[in-house]
Amino acid sequence: MIRIRFHGRGGHGMKTAGRIAGTAAFLEGYYAQDFPVYGAERRGAPITAYTRISKDRILERGIFSEPDIVIIADESLINDPAANPLQGVTKKTITIINTMVNDIKDKFSILGIVNTIDATGLCLEIIGKGSAVSAALGGAACRIIGIIQKDNLINAVIKELKNINLPEELIEKNVEVAEKCYEILSPIIIQHGEDIPDSPIETITLPYQYPTMSSPSVFSSGNIIEKKTGGWRIFKPVINLEKCNKCWICFVYCPEGVISLDESEYPHIDYDHCKGCLICYEECPVKVITVEREIETW
Ligand code: SF4
Ligand code: SF4
Repeated sequence: MIRIRFHGRGGHGMKTAGRIAGTAAFLEGYYAQDFPVYGAERRGAPITAYTRISKDRILERGIFSEPDIVIIADESLINDPAANPLQGVTKKTITIINTMVNDIKDKFSILGIVNTIDATGLCLEIIGKGSAVSAALGGAACRIIGIIQKDNLINAVIKELKNINLPEELIEKNVEVAEKCYEILSPIIIQHGEDIPDSPIETITLPYQYPTMSSPSVFSSGNIIEKKTGGWRIFKPVINLEKCNKCWICFVYCPEGVISLDESEYPHIDYDHCKGCLICYEECPVKVITVEREIETW
């Protein structure tokens, strides 16, 4: 059995990435199981998705703590205790990280094999948007396990993205992204530990995990100042104050309340807490907010 754990933030599409991997495996003739675990239903909050793939019937249920493959949708999750994506990673684990940082394995002392892929860059190049990386990382997972043909990956991407009502044109672009990721990466032989039994198994053990695993870590009331949600950001909004007409629409629409007005009534963003949802960018009527890609937000 192959156990894949996907880590992302609300909006990354990691539930869909897990489904793409599961559906592609199913189309290939394997048994598959996939499911997400949500914490806070909040854009930017950590979420985890799980996929099991096996040639035999899958009798395990629930989350698993020792994945064969870990997929991380954004390197800022590595240091986020609410996400904890390296939990259960051993020298036998394969970790794939969406990042532009090459020496990330050493920076975070990650055990096992680490592959990096600039999925956000690929999405920006092909789709024109880089926030959702489901097809990219679903494609990466399918390639790494080495048992899924490209045609079945493509069919899985189309099926899963149709299920979430993505327009035809966007589905085509996502297929292109998935194919690119499939071609960039190479399959890796997965070494199972003795502690991971093959199916069928006789007993089912569900590991207990604290419910804070993907929660927003609210330990006391009024702690928003302490929780630096700026680390969640992949894209940074920048206001051109010289062209701003002080309509305050960004100030009103920001869901985090992190835009404040100065004494001249110009808006300013608190980057320690701006989570990069880009609602301000979408809503600014005169388009004076630009977007910059973040690198190494940790
Ligand atoms: S400042 Fe803009 S990008 Fe940042 S949290 Fe507010 S609306 Fe979202
Ligand atoms: S929405 Fe745009 S124009 Fe209006 S205050 Fe914000 S940055 Fe300025």
